Amino acid sequence: MDQRTIGILGGGQLGRMIVEAANRLNVKTVILDGPNSSAKQINAVGAHVDGSYNNADAIARVAQRCDVLTVEIEHVDVKTLETLQIKHPKLEIYPTPQTIRLIQDKFTQKEHLIKNGIAVSESIEISDASVKALEEVGRKFGYPYMLKAKRLAYDGRGNFVVDSKDRIGEALQLLGDRSLYAEKWAPFSMELAVMIVRTIDGQVHSYPVVETIHRENICHLCYAPARVPDSVKFKAKLLAEDAIKSFPGAGIFGVEMFYLQDGGLLINEIAPRPHNSGHYTIEGCVTSQFEAHVRAILGLPMPKGFSSFATSNTNVVMLNVLGDSSEKDKELKTCRRALETPGASVYLYGKESRPKRKLGHINIIASSMQAVERKLQYITGESDSASD
Ligand code: ATP
Ligand code: MG
Ligand code: MG
Repeated sequence: MDQRTIGILGGGQLGRMIVEAANRLNVKTVILDGPNSSAKQINAVGAHVDGSYNNADAIARVAQRCDVLTVEIEHVDVKTLETLQIKHPKLEIYPTPQTIRLIQDKFTQKEHLIKNGIAVSESIEISDASVKALEEVGRKFGYPYMLKAKRLAYDGRGNFVVDSKDRIGEALQLLGDRSLYAEKWAPFSMELAVMIVRTIDGQVHSYPVVETIHRENICHLCYAPARVPDSVKFKAKLLAEDAIKSFPGAGIFGVEMFYLQDGGLLINEIAPRPHNSGHYTIEGCVTSQFEAHVRAILGLPMPKGFSSFATSNTNVVMLNVLGDSSEKDKELKTCRRALETPGASVYLYGKESRPKRKLGHINIIASSMQAVERKLQYITGESDSASD
């Protein structure tokens, strides 16, 4: 399909699923991560690089072996990417280093969105992490408010809910040595997410609006489509598209948002890469988020004349398989039940089990959301029947 090789910074499950999509299109990939990382396990033919996506030499070695460089994680050494862009103008980097830099600092990301007229929660930069400064935030925002690390945050590690003045000490103990900002509490009734693919010529195309349900800050379930009125889906799609139009470069983006109790929508954060809330697209849409990413960064065609990747009958729930030590082999039992369930597909990432670690996911598809939910109950052990 394309003679060029894609270099991927990061070899976790997102990299693994990019490799799967690339393989189907005869596109070669080279991965940078530790030996035997998730993505390397399924591509034994590439000249992969062992090392960290934060190491300049390792990134340069991948750059030598590829034509287009991409990431499966935004926390990469962006300075090195900027240098490579100048030294090797022929090397294409998507998302662009400029976009990665804007997004990897959540506060800079927020400032960028505000500048572009995108609705986000109000936030304040904390330049000195002291009790006085956090009390001042409490006076301004009221309680609870969210204290967030600007960088290197994931799965809620880096966030602290300051629900009263008394919790400030604890918040500082946990996050005080990081660069911080505070965010006004978003009284949401639901969390929504939209995957957007941006082509090299700057066009954006959206996937269906989905609903994400978190448990202890980690995505637990994703309902596609979201169980909200069509008017809300339409507004969410436009908001996500507008947000992604403001970031230069090509590729897939995940847009997380809050659907507020008063009906409004706010963007929470953006990921410049495939996203957990887009795993359902493997079965739920004709072109998965991973394939869309490969096509977008290589400048391969997208379906002509389409405005959305939705199929007319997308009813999917994605269940994350997390490490769980509460019962022996609990994760495996869940996966086995999924194998017995018509319409369910199991994806395992080749990772060792640790509590709360994302080990895999299960996509469950059916002709109605009620039927999907019945299958889900069987898979999670809440019911004894897997049939339609
Ligand atoms: P991810 O794994 O998605 O990258 P993260 O560590 O970057 O997560 P956030 O997305 O900032 O963290 O927040 C995690 C969760 O915390 C959100 O999905 C939401 O449930 C809750 N949350 C975050 N910010 C707010 C807010 N301002 N008001 C209310 N809840 C919030
Ligand atoms: Mg995040
Ligand atoms: Mg998030």
